Amino acid sequence: MKCRHCGSRLEHTFLDLGYAPPSNAYLSEADLGESELYYPLKVMVCTDCWLAQTEDYAHAEDLFSADYAYFSSTSSGWLAHARTFAEMITDRLSLDANSLVIEVASNDGYLLRNFVESGIPCLGIEPTDSTADAAEDLGIPVLREFFGESLGRQLASDGKQADLIAGNNVYAHVPDINDFTKGLKAVLKAGGTVTLEFPHLMRLLQHTQFDTVYHEHFSYLSLHTVSRIFEHVGLRVFDVEELPTHGGSLRVFGCHDDDPRVTSGAARNLLKEEASQGLQTLATYRDFQARADQVKNALLSFLLEQKREGKSVVAYGAAAKGNTILNYAGIKPDLLPLVFDAAPAKQGKFMPGSHIPILSPTELDRHKPDFLLILPWNIAAEVKRQNAGLAASGTRFVTALPELVVS
Ligand SMILES: [Zn+2]
Repeated sequence: MKCRHCGSRLEHTFLDLGYAPPSNAYLSEADLGESELYYPLKVMVCTDCWLAQTEDYAHAEDLFSADYAYFSSTSSGWLAHARTFAEMITDRLSLDANSLVIEVASNDGYLLRNFVESGIPCLGIEPTDSTADAAEDLGIPVLREFFGESLGRQLASDGKQADLIAGNNVYAHVPDINDFTKGLKAVLKAGGTVTLEFPHLMRLLQHTQFDTVYHEHFSYLSLHTVSRIFEHVGLRVFDVEELPTHGGSLRVFGCHDDDPRVTSGAARNLLKEEASQGLQTLATYRDFQARADQVKNALLSFLLEQKREGKSVVAYGAAAKGNTILNYAGIKPDLLPLVFDAAPAKQGKFMPGSHIPILSPTELDRHKPDFLLILPWNIAAEVKRQNAGLAASGTRFVTALPELVVS
């Protein structure tokens, strides 16, 4: 396989999680009688441009099907994050009624609703019908297409170039990252700004966040590599912020390469930090598998011990992260009988691979488990706050990464 950015031959696997079904392929009761499609789940790293990337295996169209269940607005923390971003960027770029904001992967309108409220023209791009419907109900115009160079050029020729193009949860998920970035270049107005957010590869490596690996997450990105991809298409990263989202993310700010804005000290310093953390050194990637295996084994030991002692353990959060670790560890309903999730689209369904049933969190009180395993550890604080009543009646909270913690 060749690197999706620079075309060099990929020779180094840094994580092999065996085989897994697509993490968003939630099953109905009827589906349980059918066979499930499993694909290899392996991450390779390019020693030329240092893009970490999943091995090729399937088409994007298979993954983002029309009933894709993820609605961003079900997380109150993510909604607040979006609102704060909208306020900051409106101020920083002086956006007003004469501006155009385009969001790629606008989902259910969790971000653009803020621009609609401020009277700033916006356009969402979102191929998934169920979430696009929800955004249109909020008064947000949505183009139901996949974004890339051809759509970017088409929008530009229709006079729809953007003052701000935002992609808050998409860049790591696009199969053809070069084509997507060329689309950004095409649709960006002269003097306009691109902002992209993605989980930071440096944090993944530091904190053994191997459960952020799943098929739909094609790229694991550093500032170094994103700067290279931008340069390749005539864009330039001129600033960066580090964010706590997803266990440590970056928000990069990009412009046309001839834009007068100077590259910030924050961007230059982070490039140096990445280099000093060994992100462009193969040895850094070599011990990651053993660290991931330690995390998996600690979770399995915990579940086996509770089963022997007759204690009940259930999980919170039927997200992609959870599916990765459950499938890698081979955990099934005998060790973890139930998962609770606030997204109505997932309730009544079953986790892919593990076939653990998903229930509404309103039923948690009735079950009063001894332990609640919070699978999306990145929102553990929010989940603990929402379930303070359970803690008062004796339930203890568990997170598995970066190491097993019972609180
Ligand atoms: Zn490469």
